[in-house]
Amino acid sequence: MSAQDLPYIDSLRFAKDGEIRAGYYAIAALPRLAKMLSSVQGDLHYRLQGKTEFGRPQLCLTVQAVLSLDCQRCLHPLPQDVQLRSCVGVARNEAELARWDAVDLESGRDMVDAMVAEARMSVQDFVEDEVLLSLSVAPSHPEGKCPESLTGFGILETDSEAS
Ligand SMILES: [Zn+2]
Repeated sequence: MSAQDLPYIDSLRFAKDGEIRAGYYAIAALPRLAKMLSSVQGDLHYRLQGKTEFGRPQLCLTVQAVLSLDCQRCLHPLPQDVQLRSCVGVARNEAELARWDAVDLESGRDMVDAMVAEARMSVQDFVEDEVLLSLSVAPSHPEGKCPESLTGFGILETDSEAS
């Protein structure tokens, strides 16, 4: 198994060294994400890159996937083309994390997400976490754009009449 395939990274070293890792996961292999989808077919492609900005080591992640969510209005599949790009700072410890937050608050700069370094960080968990964070809580087709021939209401009415 090459280093590229190892499921864990040292997050701070990865960020500081500007390492790059790219790969993909079967969506079905990401249990927390799969639970939210109407179909678990397909793959999720990711690229993780370490960098340092404003003296802060960061992990920058890009993810590409088509995820099949359920529309919360009509309950029919709503494929979402996910193009995620996010950077997360990697602090050495809680004290550094708190200091970064304080500096950002004082400067009025947008707070960049940050976390405390882990010597054994699961790449898969990190990718899955970031994708989950990016998903909209109540996805739906745009107002009035639910597919009419597929609305669930007719089916629901039939069900209630039968009972
Ligand atoms: Zn809909």
